[in-house]
Amino acid sequence: MNIDKVVSEAEAAISQARDEAGLDEVRVRYLGKKGELTALLKSLGNLAAEARPAAGAAINSAKQQVKSLLALRKASLGAEQLATIVDQEAVDVTLPGRRPALGGLHPITQALARAEEIFVGAGYEIVAGLEVEDDYHNFEALNIPEHHPARAMHDTFYFRDGMLLRTHTSPAQVHVMENQQPPIRVICPGRVYRRDNDLTHTPMFHQIEGLVIDRGISFADLKGTVTEFVQRFFEKDLELRFRPSYFPFTEPSAEVDVQCVHCLGSGCRVCSHNGWLEIMGCGLVHPNALEMSGIDSEEFSGFAFGMGGDRLAMLLYEVDDLRLFFENDLRFLRQFN
Ligand SMILES: [Zn+2]
Repeated sequence: MNIDKVVSEAEAAISQARDEAGLDEVRVRYLGKKGELTALLKSLGNLAAEARPAAGAAINSAKQQVKSLLALRKASLGAEQLATIVDQEAVDVTLPGRRPALGGLHPITQALARAEEIFVGAGYEIVAGLEVEDDYHNFEALNIPEHHPARAMHDTFYFRDGMLLRTHTSPAQVHVMENQQPPIRVICPGRVYRRDNDLTHTPMFHQIEGLVIDRGISFADLKGTVTEFVQRFFEKDLELRFRPSYFPFTEPSAEVDVQCVHCLGSGCRVCSHNGWLEIMGCGLVHPNALEMSGIDSEEFSGFAFGMGGDRLAMLLYEVDDLRLFFENDLRFLRQFN
């Protein structure tokens, strides 16, 4: 019976165990019911009676030795595992943090917000209005009855029940006039829809319209307001030009050209080399439109103006292709964050 040999084999196996499961296999192999040391104890009966006590004591001491080797190895395995975890999951607190990617406002949203801020500063209220409107508020109440030629310019998206997607933000102004007596001072920014889709038109685009109604409002008030707005919006001392025009909702009406924000009038690609950019339509509110919404046109007068939000953004940021705004290419959009 070679107890020392069994113990040294057990010791080697214990030191080679890589984890607790491996260690347990070693325990079973030497100390289990069919383990080698257990078998040695069972074989004591084969020995002469006088040799049994010494042999028994030696085997028990070997068992104790293996047990304590197992316990030591188990403790050191635990420490090794902990060290590995600490090593792998360590956080270097001196490294700079990874910032979460932040979104930014779309350039058109930014341009509209910039315009809103200027008007809010002048005491205007912002009215968003509804994108789904009825025929009356989108056309009739704006002095555009059925068969009026102006309707042909508004390639309208209709729903089955006679509702439609608003073709301009003007119906928001009608709702204001219906629900509020002058003085009225509102700005209506938002999305509008027309069945247009080509290089310079998208089926959805943005407008920002303004409406002021009070006693004694004249064309001079309109001209002053528009001039002040344009100069603040572009932060340039630009000249404006009012050309007589026609809109059903206003009388008299005008289209406003602004000195090219890019070349300041000397001529460039942005202004097709004529030095001027068309930026808005405006005029004094037609007495019919006032009366239809229940405002006395003898007592009150007002002006209205409308601009393209997309065009404002293009001019402000010097973007020359409208489609860039709607392609959602992050490389483009990130430049405005
Ligand atoms: Zn120009």
